[in-house]
Order: sequence, then C-alpha cells, then structure tokens
Amino acid sequence: MICPQPGEVNIGNCTTQTCSACGYVMKGKEHLTLRDREWECPNCHTSHKRDQNAAQNILQRGLELAAML
Ligand SMILES: [Zn+2]
Repeated sequence: MICPQPGEVNIGNCTTQTCSACGYVMKGKEHLTLRDREWECPNCHTSHKRDQNAAQNILQRGLELAAML
C-alpha cells in the first residue's frame, strides 16, 4: 500500500489508518480491517469511530490542499 504524498487527497486506506488526533499511521499488525468499526490510537489513546476518523482526515487533507492554492 502506497500512502499519498502531502497535498494529495486520497480517500482510500490511508485516511482510515491515520489517527485524526495525532497523525499516527497504523502499520503492520495494527492495521485496521473493515471489521474494526471503532479503535483506539496506540500513540495518543484517542478512541475513534472508523468512518468519522477517516472523514476528519479527508477534511484535514482538503484544508491543507486549499491552503496551498
Ligand atoms: Zn493518535
């Protein structure tokens, strides 16, 4: 799996695997599957709902992209 470069908005896996609170990316065995509806970040221990967390990341990427224009 290839994560998008900064500035690229990708609505694939990477938004799901990234903690919207601290930016930690789940890797290896930590990787979330479609069955993981809710999870806790191993780095900052924030509880996330999978889809809500992904939406936060997409919003954040969009805002970063807009800031560069
Ligand atoms: Zn976190």
